[in-house]
Amino acid sequence: MDENQIADIVSRVVARLGNGNGGAATVASTSKPAPASAPSNGGIGIYQTVNEAVAAAKASFLTLDTHPLEERKLMIAAMRKSALREVELLAKMAVEETGFGRYSDKVLKNTLAVEKTPGPEILQPIAFTGDNGFSLLERAPYGVIGSITPCTNPTETVISNAIGMIAGGNAVVFNAHPAAKNVTAHIIHMLNEAIISVGGPANLLTAVAKPTVESAGELMKHPDIRLMVVTGGPAVVKAAMNSGKKVIAAGPGNPPVVVDETANIEDAAKHVVDGASFDNNIVCVVEKVLICVESVADRLKAAMKSHGAFEVNGQNLKKLEKLVIERAPQGPGDHGVINKEWVGKDAWKILRAIGVEADESVRLVVFEADKGHPLVAMEQLMPVLPLVRVKDVHEGIALAIKVEHGFGHTAVMHSTNVDHLSKMAMEVNTSIFVKNGPSFAGLGYGGEGYTSFTIASPTGEGLTTARNFTRERRCVLKDRFRII
Ligand code: NAD
Repeated sequence: MDENQIADIVSRVVARLGNGNGGAATVASTSKPAPASAPSNGGIGIYQTVNEAVAAAKASFLTLDTHPLEERKLMIAAMRKSALREVELLAKMAVEETGFGRYSDKVLKNTLAVEKTPGPEILQPIAFTGDNGFSLLERAPYGVIGSITPCTNPTETVISNAIGMIAGGNAVVFNAHPAAKNVTAHIIHMLNEAIISVGGPANLLTAVAKPTVESAGELMKHPDIRLMVVTGGPAVVKAAMNSGKKVIAAGPGNPPVVVDETANIEDAAKHVVDGASFDNNIVCVVEKVLICVESVADRLKAAMKSHGAFEVNGQNLKKLEKLVIERAPQGPGDHGVINKEWVGKDAWKILRAIGVEADESVRLVVFEADKGHPLVAMEQLMPVLPLVRVKDVHEGIALAIKVEHGFGHTAVMHSTNVDHLSKMAMEVNTSIFVKNGPSFAGLGYGGEGYTSFTIASPTGEGLTTARNFTRERRCVLKDRFRII
C-alpha cells in the first residue's frame, strides 16, 4: 500500500468516525451489513455511554456461550486476517492521532500482536487420574471484561487483548486513552466486522465513543464487569486496585540495561540502540537507562554512534534537560514529570529543538549521566538515553535494581559471563529479563515465545494470555474413568 492509498483510507475512516466523536456516519457505510444491535454512531460496538457498551457486550457474551468452540477459532482467525490487512493503516492513524512513535515500528508492533498473541490453543485442559477416579480442569470465561488501554500501544493492546479475551470466551468493553479514541474505535469496529463475517455475534468488543478517566472509573465500578484489565501508568493501576474488583494490572516500567566487560560490545551497542529507539522509546519494555562497566564504556558509546546514536554533552545537555524534564523527581517514590510534548518524538527532532543539526538517520540521543540524574530515575518514553558508568558489574546490577524502582517489569543484560547473567536474572526479579538481545526480544519480536501488550507486573501474571482471562473449573468423577 502506498502513502496516497493509506491517506485516502485514513480520511474515509475519520469521516466514518464522525470527527472523532463517534457521531457522524453509520455502520451501513461498511462492507458488511449492520447487525440489528449495532449503534449508528461511529462503528460496530461503539456506544455513547458505559452502560450501553456493557449491556451490548453482555448480550453478546451470552450469545457467544451458545456458539461451538470451533466457531471461536474461526472468529480469531478472521480477526487476525482482517487486522493484518490493515496494519499499515493502523500505524498511520495511531501516529497521526497520538503524535507518538514511528510509523514503521508501529507496523511491526501491530503485526506482532496479530501474529503472536496466543488464541484458544493455549487453553489446554488438565486431567488427573488415579485410584480415586478422574478430575478434569478446564478454563471458563469470566463473562464481560473491562479493558483500559494506553495511548502508547493503542491498537496493539486492543488486538492482543481482544484475541486473548475472546479466545477465553469473553466479551470485552474497552476504555481507550482519550488521545487514541479514533484509532481505537476503528480497530474495534474492524475486529467486530471480522467476527460477524464468520457468523460470530455482534458487539463482542465494545467501547465508549468518548472515553475519559471518568468513564474508565465507571467501567471499573460497573456491576456487570467481572474482571478489570488495565494497561497504563501508576494512576490507572492504583485506581483499578481500589475498584474492589479482580484486577490484572500492567503498570509502568523503567527497564535498565547493564553491559559488562565481557559483553560483545558491537552487538550490545546495536541492540541497545535498536531497543531504546523502538517506536521512539514509548514501549514499556524498552531500554530506559544504560549502565555500563567503566572499562568498556568508551567502546560501547563509539559503537552506538555507528548504529544511529548521537551523543550530547555540555551546554547542549543542559538545554536537553530543560526541554524534556518538566519536573525532576523530588525523592523516593516520586518519579517526576516528563514534558509530554516530547514523548514519542523522533530523536533528530528533539536535537533540532535544542539547536543541534541532525539528520533523520539519528534514532537515539545518548548522554553521560551520574547515578542521581533525573532521567536515570524517570520513565522518559522518548529516544533520549542516559548512560551511567559503574566500576564493575556488581555495582551495575545493584544500580539497575534501584532504578527499576521495584516495578518488576523488564530488565536487559549484555554479558558472556554466565555467573553475571545468572546473578542479574535472579536479583532483578522482573517479569521479563532479556540476555544479549534488544528488550523487545522479550515480547517475542526476534525472541522466542508468544507476545502480549499487557505485561502485568504489579499483579504478577507477566505477559498475559487467554489463560489469565479465564477462570479455572474442576470436574471430578469419583472412582471411574481411569483407563489403565
Ligand atoms: P496512562 O496511565 O496515562 O493511561 C493509560 C490508560 O489509563 C488510559 O486509558 C487513561 O485514560 C487511563 N487512566 C489514566 N489515569 C486513570 C485514572 N486515574 N483512573 C482511570 N483511568 C485512568 O498511560 P499512557 O500514557 O497511555 O501509557 C504509558 C504508560 O503505560 C507508561 O507508564 C507505560 O510504561 C505503561 N504501559 C505499560 C504496559 C505494560 O504492559 N505493563 C504497556 C503499555 C504501557
